[in-house]
Amino acid sequence: MHEKIDGTVIAITGASSGIGAATAYHLASRGARLVLGARRQDRLDEVVAAIEAEGGEAVGVVVDVTRRDDLARLVDTAVTTYGRLDVLVSNAGTMAVSPFDALDQDGWDSMVATHITGFLNGIAAALPVFRRQESGQFVTVGSTAAYRIMSPQGVYAATKTAVTVLSEALRQESGPDLRVTLVSPGFTHTEGVGKGTTGAILESMTAQRDAIAMPPSAIATAIGFAIEQPDGVDINEVVVRPTVQG
Ligand code: NDP
Repeated sequence: MHEKIDGTVIAITGASSGIGAATAYHLASRGARLVLGARRQDRLDEVVAAIEAEGGEAVGVVVDVTRRDDLARLVDTAVTTYGRLDVLVSNAGTMAVSPFDALDQDGWDSMVATHITGFLNGIAAALPVFRRQESGQFVTVGSTAAYRIMSPQGVYAATKTAVTVLSEALRQESGPDLRVTLVSPGFTHTEGVGKGTTGAILESMTAQRDAIAMPPSAIATAIGFAIEQPDGVDINEVVVRPTVQG
């Protein structure tokens, strides 16, 4: 348990694997009450069961972050189940990287929809609740791709740059009652690395991941650090890279 996190109600998107699942385990071990969203019900169920087996509290909600109603349902579940929402972690993401010549328009669309529209849908769902409560925190998972573009990650990097800009703009408008935090991971060992890719790019990304990536628990710890700050203190941005990443 952690005195600041114990009892806190936290919703996490993309909680069925990788960074989102690691964050759920970390926050549950500190006493958070969780609402976990993703599209794969079976994987969400596994995360919820593992948390409950350790005595934690979590509810899974099948959510596609590109759909407004789904984000509204995630937030509503927090309010109806636990009476409030303290933190929304917008983590859902997809890494459909490809060179422009591949013309992978479906991949481009999925990254724009998941990262940008998904983040905006989260703001629309949670902001009225946070305003009503006069407290709340947006934690959003960006990427170091926003700071150092590595080909062929142009569209991925652009969407993560948009997330970086939106998070800072939201912070400036948030006023004294809300907190807004961007957590930007470097290479992290998850199943998501290169998931939307094939062939040589997938092989290269997987090899790089296996050589240098840090565990997802490193990002979970950073997210927990931002949440456990005392009232009135807002960690605006955390960048976490493996030491070997350039
Ligand atoms: P994973 O693939 O393990 O996790 C991605 C999560 O997002 C899954 O739970 C997936 O669940 C969910 N998701 C994807 N699309 C949607 C959607 N439309 N609606 C709801 N949930 C969705 O990869 P990571 O843990 O690596 O990725 C998590 C975040 O971290 C992403 O935003 C990613 O861009 C970012 N990141 C990752 C880095 C890395 O090196 N791994 C580096 C920098 C940033 P489901 O398929 O069940 O919906």
